[in-house]
Amino acid sequence: MFDYLIVGAGFAGSVLAERLANTGKKILIVDQRNHIGGNAFDFYNEDGILIHKYGPHIFHTNSKEVYEYLGQFTPWRPYEHKVLASVDGQLLPIPINLNTINKMYGLNLSSDQVEDFFESKAEKITRIVTSEDVVVSKVGRELYEKFFRGYTRKQWDLDPSELDASVTARVPTRTNKDDRYFTDTYQAMPLYGYTRMFEKMLSHPNIKIMLNTDYKEIVDYIPHKNMIYSGPVDSYFNYCYGKLPYRSLEFRFETVEAENFQSTGTINYPNEQPYTRITDFKYLTGQKHNKTAIVYEYPMAEGDPYYPVPRPENAEIYKKYQQLAAAMTNTYFVGRLATYKYYNMDQVVAQSLTLFKKLMQKQSETYVNGSKATQSKLLS
Ligand code: FAD
Ligand code: UDP
Repeated sequence: MFDYLIVGAGFAGSVLAERLANTGKKILIVDQRNHIGGNAFDFYNEDGILIHKYGPHIFHTNSKEVYEYLGQFTPWRPYEHKVLASVDGQLLPIPINLNTINKMYGLNLSSDQVEDFFESKAEKITRIVTSEDVVVSKVGRELYEKFFRGYTRKQWDLDPSELDASVTARVPTRTNKDDRYFTDTYQAMPLYGYTRMFEKMLSHPNIKIMLNTDYKEIVDYIPHKNMIYSGPVDSYFNYCYGKLPYRSLEFRFETVEAENFQSTGTINYPNEQPYTRITDFKYLTGQKHNKTAIVYEYPMAEGDPYYPVPRPENAEIYKKYQQLAAAMTNTYFVGRLATYKYYNMDQVVAQSLTLFKKLMQKQSETYVNGSKATQSKLLS
């Protein structure tokens, strides 16, 4: 009898497996893929270069708790990601900042002047609702068209006006020269890669791992007291309220006979190309190698579910699934697919640590109630 059957060996499933195993629980973790790590899985390709199978994964967080928790399973290598966008034949820093504007228009503005520049271009929008509103209200329509509209339409097959504000709000606008993609307090990569980190997390005598297995194949045959599910929530409920859209990607990998392919970790292609971005892995991993490996990302409607699509009609459908999920006893939903949230890795770790604390709380309450019940029985 397992205490927990955990579906999915990505961040959500692995954090909970590790935490629960450490309290003495017996865990079976199942993944339909042939590896652990979920979408953060990395491996050495045939040329010996460390690549991320499901696209570039850069770790960043403001949470000390998350950073220190993961730090138990890996040393870190400091890494601050930088991205350029290919616009009008130039490579310009994104997030849009002072350097972007000066380079793009051949100007020499100060921070104050660029603030005035943005203000002169910005459209007055009283209620920021969509991904278009976010950008147009800050930098105006021209920069929106050049940097955001094409990229977003390609990535989501939706116009920014059809997506929640939260999507493009991931990429801020700055009036200083800070050209880092993220500004989080902790920005670092697992020194030996994500997969090594996951191996350490799951290396515990109480954790059994079953790969190449859809949980539906085994769920009726493996006795377990509780289930933690991190797959797509609509699939769990057999699509009873219809399919939730998840956006997919196709990754095209190449090995390049040069130390580096491009001048920075990622270059975004908002407009002309069919792909959204190219990433040169060696910047991310810090690996020393005389060749490098790159990946092109081509957005797709069909394929592995990678991105929940944040827009009101999908939130409505999800709400119904969420109600079903909340009504279940001893089955818990966690992670990017099961809670239909556009979460980064650190947010999934934080969500999982919170669920773990709730499970411990529930256990101690049951115990207290149980012993209270026994006590009163004894007294009567
Ligand atoms: P997943 O990693 O998706 O794990 C779920 C697992 O469940 C999968 O392994 C799946 O095979 C398994 N599963 C599903 N259904 C079943 C079933 N029926 N039976 C058995 N197993 C099943 N985050 C960042 O912080 N920084 C980044 O730079 C970043 N870049 C990203 C780039 C791309 C292209 C993508 C797609 C995501 C990126 N993310 C990034 C987000 C990150 O991948 C997620 O936050 C994180 O991996 C989610 O973990 P999870 O455990 O919720 O889900
Ligand atoms: N985005 C854009 N242009 C860019 C970068 C991002 O329009 O150069 C928009 C796009 O809609 C994208 C979203 O901002 O999907 C979030 O970007 P992020 O880089 O965070 O995407 P992720 O790494 O999650 O794919």
